[in-house]
Amino acid sequence: MYLPMDRTVTAKIRLYVEHALGEGQLVPVSRPQAHYLFGVMRLSVGAQVLLFDGQSGEWLAEVAEAGKRGGTLQVLSQTRPLQMPPDLWLMFAPIKKARTDFIVEKAVEMGAARIVPVQTAYTNAGRVQRDRLQAHAVEAAEQCGGTFVPEVAEMVRLDRLLADWDTTRQVMFCDEAQVALKPTLPAKFAPWAILIGPEGGFSPDERERLQRAGHTHPVSLGPRILRADTAAVAALTLWQTALGDWT
Ligand code: SAH
Repeated sequence: MYLPMDRTVTAKIRLYVEHALGEGQLVPVSRPQAHYLFGVMRLSVGAQVLLFDGQSGEWLAEVAEAGKRGGTLQVLSQTRPLQMPPDLWLMFAPIKKARTDFIVEKAVEMGAARIVPVQTAYTNAGRVQRDRLQAHAVEAAEQCGGTFVPEVAEMVRLDRLLADWDTTRQVMFCDEAQVALKPTLPAKFAPWAILIGPEGGFSPDERERLQRAGHTHPVSLGPRILRADTAAVAALTLWQTALGDWT
């Protein structure tokens, strides 16, 4: 549909570029990308790659110039339109570095639109490196065939986030203390956010505040206590199955 009939796609590499894409566009290759494309993957002039810019879908391009420190790609034609994930945020309390990276990667694969690290009362991870997490999100989108890259927000305190909350956005509050609760979500067309707590769980104050809010829906993820990274994937699965783009 998007490809001329006489063109076979041999591209195996998908790259996110911060450059508007369109037919005939010339896209400069950054130094790290040149290292990857021409150094590691050994692509030469004429080789094909797939590109996406997070806004205009996926495009087939070919290498026009290849150098050690840079190069140029020429966009040929569109291969897929932009596919936005549902308006779902994943909010989580950061844990250890590798597990936090895992959460970001899985959130992109599972179709979250925005990723928000939150500092809760019992969060013991210090600062998060937003740029590093954003780079993980880009890599995950490249790998999973996504045409959109979710933004990783700056870490924000949970109490501040809740104080400024737009109440049209529903919150799926994953509460390890509600093991008897059936995971039911109102089948309501609305923006949503999933909230996952830290290893230490939620404080009594936080739990009370979350339970009081009309736009918050406490949900159990089963009778076992899951690690936060497992809980994030389970919650995304549950939400996507009930209200998301899996159905
Ligand atoms: N220290 C806590 C567990 C925290 S688990 C305790 O022992 O009680 C980290 C987070 O994962 C929780 O805050 C919650 O958001 C989510 N989570 C883990 N297991 C869950 C479950 N069975 N139901 C709902 N949420 C769960």
